[in-house]
Amino acid sequence: MSLDVLAQELQACQACPFRQEAIAPVGWFGDPASPIVFVGEGPGAVEDDFGCPLIGPSGQLLDKALWAAKMTRDRVLTTNVIKCRPKNNRTPDIAEAAFCAKRWLDRELAIIQPKVIVALGGVAMHYLGNPDMRITRDRGQWFRTEQGFDCIATYHPAYLLRLTGHALVTAKWDVFHDLEAARERAAMLAPGYEFMSPEKVDLFKIFKKRVHDYL
Ligand code: SF4
Repeated sequence: MSLDVLAQELQACQACPFRQEAIAPVGWFGDPASPIVFVGEGPGAVEDDFGCPLIGPSGQLLDKALWAAKMTRDRVLTTNVIKCRPKNNRTPDIAEAAFCAKRWLDRELAIIQPKVIVALGGVAMHYLGNPDMRITRDRGQWFRTEQGFDCIATYHPAYLLRLTGHALVTAKWDVFHDLEAARERAAMLAPGYEFMSPEKVDLFKIFKKRVHDYL
């Protein structure tokens, strides 16, 4: 199955209650040939509005971090564990995340076959690694996913947005080093791949605001 066909099937998914609160599922963005895939938690309000993963404030911060680590959004692939926005941006529990990820994320990854995955935050780390992992303790450590992909976890940009002062500076450096480690491993496993375009991508020029189908 191709990623395009999977994307069409995803848009029709009604398999869990999250779908009732969301405009529509949010899939992935980027280069399916990229050796590196970033997996976030799930769509927030802006992501649901525009149908693009990591396009809101968290995504803007991620773009800056990627740029610092010599990557741009068009040259990597970004996606989420869960595809429909949980009501009030509630953090999905492990069972809810797995219910969606087994239907969609696992199949995306099986098609893309990334060399390296970066788990952004605890929800992605718990699904791709195991629920006993702790982001503050285990970020920056390589592990192998159940599907056999090399994975490293780092802080979700939404977490950085809640920090201030010294804690923020320290966490930003941690993220920078994690992203750099991920790019270096992906570059080693996919020699010649260009991880960076000359300019950052303006996702708001690509994605238009969606509307609820009941409006
Ligand atoms: S959250 Fe996932 S499983 Fe639930 S309806 Fe949306 S796409 Fe389907």
